[in-house]
Amino acid sequence: MDNMAYNGIIQKYRRFLPVEDYAEFVSLDEGQTPLLKAPALSRWISPHVTLYLKIEGQNPSGSFKDRGMTMAVSHAKFQGHEIVMCASTGNTSASAAAYAARGGMKCVVLIPDGNIALGKLAQALVHGAQVISIQGNFDDALTIVREVTMKYPIALVNSVNPVRIDGQKTAAFEIVDELGEAPDIHALPVGNAGNITAYWKGFKEYFAAGISTKLPRILGFQAEGAAPIVDGAPIANPKTVASAIRIGNPASWQSAVSARDESGGLIAKVSDTRIIQSYLQAARLEGVFAEPASLTPIAGLKMLAEQGYFQQPVTVTVTLTGNGLKDPGTAVEYSNSELQSIPPTVDAVIQSLGY
Ligand SMILES: *Cc1c(COP(=O)(O)O)cnc(C)c1O
Repeated sequence: MDNMAYNGIIQKYRRFLPVEDYAEFVSLDEGQTPLLKAPALSRWISPHVTLYLKIEGQNPSGSFKDRGMTMAVSHAKFQGHEIVMCASTGNTSASAAAYAARGGMKCVVLIPDGNIALGKLAQALVHGAQVISIQGNFDDALTIVREVTMKYPIALVNSVNPVRIDGQKTAAFEIVDELGEAPDIHALPVGNAGNITAYWKGFKEYFAAGISTKLPRILGFQAEGAAPIVDGAPIANPKTVASAIRIGNPASWQSAVSARDESGGLIAKVSDTRIIQSYLQAARLEGVFAEPASLTPIAGLKMLAEQGYFQQPVTVTVTLTGNGLKDPGTAVEYSNSELQSIPPTVDAVIQSLGY
């Protein structure tokens, strides 16, 4: 094992994954993402917080979805499927399209009309997926995909597919492997609630195996206009700048609540204003560019700190779920930086520097 090149999460964590019978698997060497210490962002949040960022935007298609997708597409192939299908706010389709291409399979994605970040759409298209835009939201798309994949020989690769959750739990393993122990708190955004389910499963499995000696509190954060779990009811028209978590009726709702309650954590909501503030803070204080949804937990931690939540030193890990380059529109719109256009002379440049 030691001499083998890294070959993705299935190879690395095989003994914790339901893959015994796979003759081959479809991988793009996902996983092994950085766990970056973030001292400046820690200081901004609270003097009690030691913060680490799990940079999932460095996965092959730019989001954590790749961890689940290597499992889902490998599983579909093992079962003899030739077509995979998903509903997506963007990253699931980008990932499914990449892994289907890698596995020599066809991919069909249903996206909400006009509501997907440009980079993600570009990815699905360039990998050759059939992209169908429906006049509805993510929840409508998922309902349709569930029915179609039930009736036809097409593999469903949304996170309602349990092998996706198993793949995604490996991020929790990597955190414990790197820290040598579970963190006190793990925070992450909650959309369809697959990832919060996956992390809790991963932390519990490592604890049960004796690899960590404690379990973290799980803190999940939703956007104010798309916070069905916090509000206690599905939302027909979820709204938020964080398009990856613009979901009104999470498929893994119950298991998110279990993760919250079993871990002694919480699920709270934060405003878009706070999300954008954290988005810029991470980019400017740490040089980390993640997409807006990824910063929801940073916004949430800041809000909790203001409410006095942190009273003693804690190690906090946060999943930064997706790469900032996926959503250039939001980046340009909110960066508050004016693009100056000046004559091509040294004098004009010096003048604009304020000398
Ligand atoms: C999918 C996604 C989420 C939400 O994860 P869920 O498992 O649906 O809760 C958050 N951020 C990004 C960037 C995503 O792609």
